[in-house]
Amino acid sequence: MNRQDSAFKERLYTTYELKRRTRLIIIMSAVLYLLFLVLDAVYAGAYFKLLLTIRLGVLGAHAGLYFLLDRIKTNRGYVNIDKALTIFDVAGIAIMIQFLGGFAAKYVQGLYLIILGMVVAVPLAFRETIILYLFIWASYAVPSFINMPGGQGGWRDVFANLFFLTSICLLGGLGSYLMEKIRWRELRSRMQLEDMTSQLQESNEKLKTLDELKTQFFANINHELRTPLTLMLAPLKNILDGKAGKISSGLKDTLATMQRNGYMLLKLINNLLDLNKLEEGKMRIKIKTVDFLEYVSSRLNSVKPLADQKNIKLYVQHPPDKIELSIDPDQFEKVILNLLSNALKFTPSKGKVTVYVEEKKQTVALIVEDNGIGIPPEMHKSIFDRFSQVDGSKSRLHEGTGIGLSLVREIVNLHGGSVRVESKTGKGSRFVVDLMKGQKHYGPDVLDRRVEDKPVSLKRRATDSEGLTVHDILTDYRRLQLVDLEKIEIVGGTPDAEKIHEILLLVIDDSPEVLKLMKMLLSDEFDLELTTSAEQGLKILGEKSPDLVLCDVMMPGMDGHTFCKKVKSDDRYKHIPVILVTARSGAEMISEGIEAGADDYIAKPFDSIELKARIGSLLRIRKVESQLALANQNLKMRTSDLVEQQRSLFLSTVKSLVTAIDAKDEYTRHHSARVTEFTLKIAKSMDFSTKEMEDLELASLLHDIGKIAVPESILNKPGPLTDEEYAVIKEHPVRGEGILKPMVELKEISMVVRSHHEHYDGTGYPDGLKGLGIPLGARIMAVADAYDAITSERPYRKGASHWAAVKEITRCSGTHFDPNVVQHFLEISGTFADRPDKKGASKTI
Ligand code: ADP
Repeated sequence: MNRQDSAFKERLYTTYELKRRTRLIIIMSAVLYLLFLVLDAVYAGAYFKLLLTIRLGVLGAHAGLYFLLDRIKTNRGYVNIDKALTIFDVAGIAIMIQFLGGFAAKYVQGLYLIILGMVVAVPLAFRETIILYLFIWASYAVPSFINMPGGQGGWRDVFANLFFLTSICLLGGLGSYLMEKIRWRELRSRMQLEDMTSQLQESNEKLKTLDELKTQFFANINHELRTPLTLMLAPLKNILDGKAGKISSGLKDTLATMQRNGYMLLKLINNLLDLNKLEEGKMRIKIKTVDFLEYVSSRLNSVKPLADQKNIKLYVQHPPDKIELSIDPDQFEKVILNLLSNALKFTPSKGKVTVYVEEKKQTVALIVEDNGIGIPPEMHKSIFDRFSQVDGSKSRLHEGTGIGLSLVREIVNLHGGSVRVESKTGKGSRFVVDLMKGQKHYGPDVLDRRVEDKPVSLKRRATDSEGLTVHDILTDYRRLQLVDLEKIEIVGGTPDAEKIHEILLLVIDDSPEVLKLMKMLLSDEFDLELTTSAEQGLKILGEKSPDLVLCDVMMPGMDGHTFCKKVKSDDRYKHIPVILVTARSGAEMISEGIEAGADDYIAKPFDSIELKARIGSLLRIRKVESQLALANQNLKMRTSDLVEQQRSLFLSTVKSLVTAIDAKDEYTRHHSARVTEFTLKIAKSMDFSTKEMEDLELASLLHDIGKIAVPESILNKPGPLTDEEYAVIKEHPVRGEGILKPMVELKEISMVVRSHHEHYDGTGYPDGLKGLGIPLGARIMAVADAYDAITSERPYRKGASHWAAVKEITRCSGTHFDPNVVQHFLEISGTFADRPDKKGASKTI
């Protein structure tokens, strides 16, 4: 057996409390040995004395073993006593069996009892049990064989008894084997469990120590923060109260901001310290019996100015008679002020806050009710948990830490009372505090019986200013609790008449404190417009057109990114540089800002020099940009002047050319002018716009400009043209386009010129265009041109009449001409007949 096994066994024996068990077995065995004397008397009366002697002998052995038991210290020793006891018991019975006839004796059943009893009573190892069983078997069988009487019947007893004995030994052996297994398994799992338990205990201990350290550290840090902070606040208050002489209003303003922020920090530290104390169960209360109505109304008076500022009505309702209540006035003040300050904080202007005091038989209820924004039902339970807030987002409207209500609950619980909330979103909230009357419910564990509760570090110091101690600051609970609600005046907008600086900055931040800071940092170099909302910022942008905007990112309502996007997508404002200011840094934030179109980004807390440098550089860039834009605009204007000049020069040249062409051909003189007139008449009836009419006018005037390349001899030839001459004439639309094309603005006109000889059915030239593929201007011009050609005199024919021309054009509608255009032509053709200038045409009509 290895060492681990023996340790395991030792553990097994310990588990079974072997000593106690062995003592019990010796006693039981002794009792049974004595009791069986009755059997002796009945069954073997003749041998009674002898059997008595044997039994006494065994009992003597019992006594000896019992005596030894107290001398032995090891489990092994106890096991040996158990084994010795078995041997004595077996030996006694074996001897009696031999006196009573060996195999024939009934006392063999005593051995059965021992065999089975052993399995149950003693946690003997299987191996030891088997050895003992062999001993029992042998102590019965061997002497019985020796004493065996002869004869048939004797063998039957031998067989039967040995069969039973052997079977019981086997059964007992099996039982012992199984019991051993079970015992071992059980022990093993128990040991594992113990191991785990001890590991858990160990880590639990470690955690506890760590937690204690953390709590202690936390408390120390808070004390360390609180002391210097109060040492700053005390003199600050004295200066602000005018005890250090007169100070300028600017400085007063700055000092007031410092004081307010100091108070806010102090409130936070105090709350955390209180919670820490409560968590550790170290918070004690000093009970005083107060007139509760007077106590409550005094607290309400201190809240009243804040309610007035917010335009909230404050009511109180209470029974007429005095109510005496035992509370800790200082601690309970935190409860009332927290509930009141929440009610004021979460109730909009023109709202109502009512405080009820209700007296019952055993209790008094304090109820703070408002008709503000309310609390959603799913939050009613958790709202008293630490750091729980309905709106915990970074862009929330109200500042806060979510500590106030958990303090309220803890302090009320310390007073043996309870607090609950009833509320409906949008309708308001009702916080109900129930307090017990009398003092019986205060156990000694919550009461502070010390006379003075000032930590050493907070007692009067040399640095304390006269008349005001650090302790005074610390216990100025009312100012501390209500500091969040104090209204901050921001004077930002500078009336135009008072413009001091050249540059106007618009600063947007939801925190008035930050605006004040900005004002302090920037007002020496810039005029400022300050506002707490981006919506208002957009309005100011339109009214005052500032030179640059500084905008906070996280704000309730419209946030900085949305504001920036709006500015940058509006042509009126997009040139104004926007710097985003945020407490959150990181690549994601910067990329979001840049996406929104911000010109720069600055993280809080910022340095005033850096802020001014960034503003300066953006303003410089903006200045250069606007100079460039101005120069660019001048340049553009000059360029367009030049282009216009060039265009009109070109047009007048081209028009002179047209006149020259018309002059070349005496028959077609004024042809272009007439075609233009006809074309415009038709176009007008087709509802052309002014611009389209202008283009069409130019196109008609210039439609034959290509003829400049056609020799006069061909143009004025009296007889019919040869094929070659006709081919030269047919080139004039393409040539005309070639002349006009270089002028970009005349591109479309040039296309009309090119197409004025196309036919609606595709039989025209130069491109064989068809139907609506021919530019509309060209389709109109084709009709006008044909009308003029038909009615004009030519070298080779007389001019036809107006009606002949109308008839011809109608005939060619759908082949040469666009039927739609012809339709319009027909509608107005009456006006063609009596035109004043007929020149060529007049000869024929
Ligand atoms: P804090 O006011 O500093 O956030 P509190 O523990 O005092 O912390 O309040 C926790 C939250 O409970 C608040 O943030 C607010 O969402 C909600 N709350 C408390 N009082 C009211 C009230 N009278 N009306 C609406 N909401 C309230």
